[in-house]
Amino acid sequence: MLRFQTTAVHAGREDFATLCVHAPPLDLSTTYPVSDLGVGTASFDALVGGAADAANPIYARLHNPTVARAENAIAALEGTQACVAYGSGMAALTAVLLARRQHGGHVLVVRPLYGTADHLLASGLCGLEAEFVDAGQIAARRRADTTLVVIETPANPTLDLVDIRAVVAAAGDVPVLVDSTFATPVLQQPAALGATYVLHSATKFLGGHGDVIAGVVCCDEAHAAPLRTVRAATGALLHPLAAYLLHRGLPTLALRVERAQANARVLAQRLAEHPAVSRVDYPGLGKVRNAHLVGTQMCGPGTLMSFEMRAGHAAAAAVMAAVQVMTPAVSLGSVDTLIQHPAGLTHRVVDDATRAATGITPGLLRLSVGIEDVEDLWDDLAQALARAEARCPADDAAGRRRTLSVAAGA
Ligand SMILES: *Cc1c(COP(=O)(O)O)cnc(C)c1O
Repeated sequence: MLRFQTTAVHAGREDFATLCVHAPPLDLSTTYPVSDLGVGTASFDALVGGAADAANPIYARLHNPTVARAENAIAALEGTQACVAYGSGMAALTAVLLARRQHGGHVLVVRPLYGTADHLLASGLCGLEAEFVDAGQIAARRRADTTLVVIETPANPTLDLVDIRAVVAAAGDVPVLVDSTFATPVLQQPAALGATYVLHSATKFLGGHGDVIAGVVCCDEAHAAPLRTVRAATGALLHPLAAYLLHRGLPTLALRVERAQANARVLAQRLAEHPAVSRVDYPGLGKVRNAHLVGTQMCGPGTLMSFEMRAGHAAAAAVMAAVQVMTPAVSLGSVDTLIQHPAGLTHRVVDDATRAATGITPGLLRLSVGIEDVEDLWDDLAQALARAEARCPADDAAGRRRTLSVAAGA
């Protein structure tokens, strides 16, 4: 078995020697000639039934070789038999929910989740009843018609960790879906811990360059086939050009994550010592829920953090307005550093009570650290924090005490 980095460079390229190419061919065909009707009919049946490939792709909603190469590469990185790609992370989650419906109508969900995932589940749009529970309540709340357990770790935007092994044990024979977008297969491989479905918004780290919207579900072949059937039926396809770009980003995935993580460790530490900041959520600082899983479940603390401006919403808005190197934008996992305001943007679709209960306060900013030089990132953040402090002084006593002790070198 090849190791991770070698796999990242070579996976999904197995047919290159036969094709005599060195870069993945980009196949934009919408339809494929069927000169042998017998082969065509058998291929059609196989693909609609969820087969990974067939002698003839027939029609691009059923199969595309460029997409299949990217899928094979991602499956190899997650250590699963299969990967099914969709037009977005939300389309990928929708496909899993639709595929599970035939097995039961109840889903157990652990918060916090990506805002739109929370909204999709809470709204019941896919015809499933979602019950939101703490990870510790899963065994007790499981019902005969429970068809799926959904967790996200690290969670968005609080960076809380969920113990995948414990959830899998509590779920019994109910499949567990882990949204592993924040971790990437570089830091965490949930299938090895018993997760049935590993979901990524490939828009984030897997694509990595801010130019692809995509989603993937990694799982065994038995669970992948119904997901392909849903994709063929609903048309939530990944375009081959997007798959090409996704595949192209994979060889540098680990390099990007490791560099961004090294930057994130430095920024988290400095933010935690800054007087304008009242709280930093970063698994590497040991304060998020289940931080002890860094080093076991997750081999590093990752590249995302959230921090709270002591002076609240106005100060957070001032930081977003003042950054020069970082991009004030939603999304994450790109080569460049992005900063955004969860309560005002990504988590607007989550109801107020849930936002408050999950620590998504008005002063909270989420930072997705990129691969720039960390000193330029800190200079940028420091000047933005100074501007925010000047415009919105935090006049509470705790803030003053903290400022004085930091000034005194404590
Ligand atoms: C972005 C994101 C999603 C949704 O993915 P899209 O590609 O935007 O549809 C789901 N989960 C997490 C953790 C995300 O960050």
